[in-house]
Amino acid sequence: MSDPSDDTPSARRRTFAIISHPDAGKTTLTEKLLLFGGAIQLAGEVRAKKHGAQTRSDWMGIERERGISVVTSVMTFEYDGRIFNLLDTPGHEDFSEDTYRTLTAVDSAVMVIDAAKGIEARTRKLFEVCRLRDIPIVTFINKMDRESRDPFDLLDEIEKTLALDTAPVTWPIGRGRSFVGTYDLAHNHIRLIDRDEEAIPVSGPDDPKVIDLLPPDERDAFLEEITLAQEACKPFELDAFREGHLTPVFFGSALRTFGVRDLIDALAAFAPSPRGQQADGRTVLPDETRMTGFVFKIQANMDPNHRDRIAFLRVCSGKLTRGMKAKLVRTGKSISLNAPQFFFARSRSLAEEAFAGDVVGIPNHGTLRIGDTLTEGEDVLFRGVPSFAPEILRRIRLQDPMKAKKLREALQQMAEEGVVQMFLPKDGSAAIVGVVGALQLDVLVERMQAEYGLPIGFEQSRFTVCRWISSDSRADLEKFVEAQRSAIADDLDGAPVFMATSAFSLKYEQERAPQIVFSEVKDYQ
Ligand code: GDP
Repeated sequence: MSDPSDDTPSARRRTFAIISHPDAGKTTLTEKLLLFGGAIQLAGEVRAKKHGAQTRSDWMGIERERGISVVTSVMTFEYDGRIFNLLDTPGHEDFSEDTYRTLTAVDSAVMVIDAAKGIEARTRKLFEVCRLRDIPIVTFINKMDRESRDPFDLLDEIEKTLALDTAPVTWPIGRGRSFVGTYDLAHNHIRLIDRDEEAIPVSGPDDPKVIDLLPPDERDAFLEEITLAQEACKPFELDAFREGHLTPVFFGSALRTFGVRDLIDALAAFAPSPRGQQADGRTVLPDETRMTGFVFKIQANMDPNHRDRIAFLRVCSGKLTRGMKAKLVRTGKSISLNAPQFFFARSRSLAEEAFAGDVVGIPNHGTLRIGDTLTEGEDVLFRGVPSFAPEILRRIRLQDPMKAKKLREALQQMAEEGVVQMFLPKDGSAAIVGVVGALQLDVLVERMQAEYGLPIGFEQSRFTVCRWISSDSRADLEKFVEAQRSAIADDLDGAPVFMATSAFSLKYEQERAPQIVFSEVKDYQ
């Protein structure tokens, strides 16, 4: 499948994420993809992570108790001459902010759909984030070994609910218990569930090698279906896929490791290599010689023995080499990249060099924040790692008032990591934290106790919604801030935020102040 003409380092990279609703099979598929890449010996390692047994995400009691994965990470593996960087998106809805940020760092996504359930709520939400950036999507309809919905019905649902054209590449032979393999609609070959490594050529759907696989009473329906699929469905078109308008669809069973080979071959062949990244003033292209990258994720406590903080940097252009000096554009200071790291299913290793599309972890003690840009000297800034207006606001209750300063520092760190957002009211009252999902509050309590020895609680804040405010006229903004002083706070970067007691009062103030822009989303910096 490899095209030898595109073997530059960045052209060989595929940086992608899997989007799905919980339980659709993301973990199982991740395991199987890694197996193909030879990145892990045993299936089950990713699952061990998910269930918190002795792995790097084991650090947090909360995760163990609830059995959910709250850690975003990256897994690198090689297959067919390509280097795949699979960015894991946390499964729990409460961590959607993290997930959104992760999706700013990928070039394509695999959408996993449970064949019995079709498009579910979270899949749709994540898809919409992908659509904002026109990220090309490959669809994997999973669990074909179980009772499933009619394939046409599923394709129709994707087209209608996501406004996305579908091009089935394979078609299931049999359903549920009688699911035996898939028929390749374009190439007239089949793959069988027990030996998917072999593409068996056939003369057509009525070839006895195909039709004899099915129980006699299902044969006529199958022939009709395949004919309809071949005649009525759209063929795969690379341009439409790359532009995010059309998704190639594969049917399979992650559990039975079936259909996964077709999927990974499709990623190798069609998924885009690193794209140009939008920065202030210009698009940065992957084959530019000078290194640039942005931080989309900060993770603390990955290893309980080392209290390090890892910033995940998506390299956007050039080459990152270990030991190089990079400019942190936010501060203008230079930092040494002495120990950049690659992550595999279970281990990490020093990254001697990394190219556009790669994701490296950079250990640091608070120098790097979410949204930061690193360059080889240029003052370019990547935009688009977003922050969302929190849906829950709380005041922090500190049991020991002597520790107010320590609390402030700890909160600042948590905010820099993106665990919570922190707002400092202009009137000097206690800090307010904002989160998108309630689970983030539990994480904050646990980490404040474990890492800073600070027992904290929460009090209702009289505010329930907030928006970043800006204006074309500096004077207008200052006037508004002065008039609303008791409802204004500064965020982590000192950007002004207006807080309101209800959606109704927010709307009222918005109408009274047309010169002010109220934003729900803020780019970092
Ligand atoms: P996630 O929540 O999306 O990560 O889903 P998991 O990979 O944990 O899968 C959820 C459940 O579905 C588990 O019990 C899996 O064993 C099961 N599962 C995943 N893929 C398949 C499949 O292809 N066929 C069947 N029958 N079960 C599957």
